[in-house]
Amino acid sequence: MTTSTVNGGISFWYAQDGLPAPREPLPGDSSADVCVIGGGYTGLWTAYYLKKAAPDLRITVLEGRFCGYGASGRNGGWLFNGIAGRDRYARLHGRDSAVRLQQAMNDTVDEVIRVAAEEGIDADIHRGGVLEVAYTPAQAARLKAFHSAEVAFGEKERVLLGAQETAERIRVSGAVTSSWTPYGARVHPVKLVKGLAAAVEALGVTIHESTPVTQIRPQHAVTPYGTVRAPYVLRCTEGFTAAIKGQRRAWLPMNSSMIATEPLSPELWDTIGWEGREALGDMAHAYVYAQRTADDRIALGGRGVPYRYGSRTDNDGRTQPVTIEALREMLVRLFPTTAGVRIDHAWSGVLGVPRDWCATVTLDRSTGLGWAGGYVGSGVATTNLAGRTLRDLIQQDSGQSGATDLSTLPWVGHKVRKWEPEPLRWLGVQAMYAAYRGADRRESAARSARTDRVARVADRVSGRH
Ligand SMILES: Cc1cc2nc3c(=O)[nH]c(=O)nc-3n(C[C@H](O)[C@H](O)[C@H](O)COP(=O)(O)OP(=O)(O)OC[C@H]3O[C@@H](n4cnc5c(N)ncnc54)[C@H](O)[C@@H]3O)c2cc1C
Repeated sequence: MTTSTVNGGISFWYAQDGLPAPREPLPGDSSADVCVIGGGYTGLWTAYYLKKAAPDLRITVLEGRFCGYGASGRNGGWLFNGIAGRDRYARLHGRDSAVRLQQAMNDTVDEVIRVAAEEGIDADIHRGGVLEVAYTPAQAARLKAFHSAEVAFGEKERVLLGAQETAERIRVSGAVTSSWTPYGARVHPVKLVKGLAAAVEALGVTIHESTPVTQIRPQHAVTPYGTVRAPYVLRCTEGFTAAIKGQRRAWLPMNSSMIATEPLSPELWDTIGWEGREALGDMAHAYVYAQRTADDRIALGGRGVPYRYGSRTDNDGRTQPVTIEALREMLVRLFPTTAGVRIDHAWSGVLGVPRDWCATVTLDRSTGLGWAGGYVGSGVATTNLAGRTLRDLIQQDSGQSGATDLSTLPWVGHKVRKWEPEPLRWLGVQAMYAAYRGADRRESAARSARTDRVARVADRVSGRH
């Protein structure tokens, strides 16, 4: 980290695009047909699709800070078809059901791009697909298994590339193989969330910002400024959920951290390639994800300090210097020619991680309470599917429609046990990530194609697989 690196400030994306003009807090008690808590992608997509389906519906969004304050304004901008928990859903509900879920996710990438175009949201979207690379024998073995599994789940267009073909796309140092899928696009996260909030408001949805919900009860969302009463109350608070009364051990807030470089010179880009602007990732246990931004920077993320004691969340994205340095080293590991490049910004955000690492969407028909989340690290597209699914569940519950393709997907209504109380929760996550980092180091040093034994144990103990 150099003195010129901005640390925190929510995210680089806001530094670039500016913070949004604040919206008024809730002025007092009120009522609505649907109350959405949280103005990230989940809450906004839900409001969007509900209002489109039933323009007369009175929908109120209550946001604790401002729309896009959370992960939706801080992410890596991989709009892709991954969904946390698919393989477990295949085991629980059968393979066909999980194939349907995967197909719905494939379609979701197109759906986000379609709506952005329809609503005039210019979010620097570039559909270059996703390229996942391997640069150790163990990573290569995992990548091949991953590739075969995705093809078996219906991704016929996915291709496995050799070292030469990989380098023709992106020259990742030492890459031996990669897997490319067309189901992915690069987005500017903040332009997407700001545009979505504006589109939702233009449809007639009421958004109140600086309005934290302190308690959720059936038909009630309680805030310091008043209570919103609504037959349906939807919790869309992802990594912040643990701070809500009664939810402390629901989804664990896991940190993910990012850096953005200065814009790279054309000469430097010549050493890297990346003309296709693919979303780029690796197959390490503590994996990295990256994008080439519209203004020719590299934005790269990975796990920093993964979790803070007591499920505390963040301080406007401030990131520990040791994490920033680790990400910079990762950047140089992938692209040695970036060694002298300035890091303009570093930031962090929180993901929601359920005990079984499975994303869910639920409407409890007896109480009218609903929620969606637990996306782990893949929510940019999944939130859209969640929004459309919550719409269908509410329409079904209120007699406007029957069961739909979306309301019968296997992630609907999934129940998961709570995380362990502290200090076990903290110790467990620290140990898991120490295990992953150690495994990555050993795999880099070893010539073996076997996944490190410690990482396999960590996967099992953490409930990840
Ligand atoms: C650094 C980082 C990189 C990521 N990269 C990717 C990626 O490249 N691709 C991908 O698919 N996914 C990625 N993710 C995950 C993805 O960003 C999230 O899954 C997604 O944005 C979740 O959206 P959300 O609306 O559910 O949650 P959030 O965006 O976190 O929104 C929750 C909102 O609720 C508000 N809130 C919280 N508590 C309350 C309360 N009590 N009352 C009122 N409001 C409240 C918050 O202020 C916040 O605005 C990344 C996440 C992070 C942190």
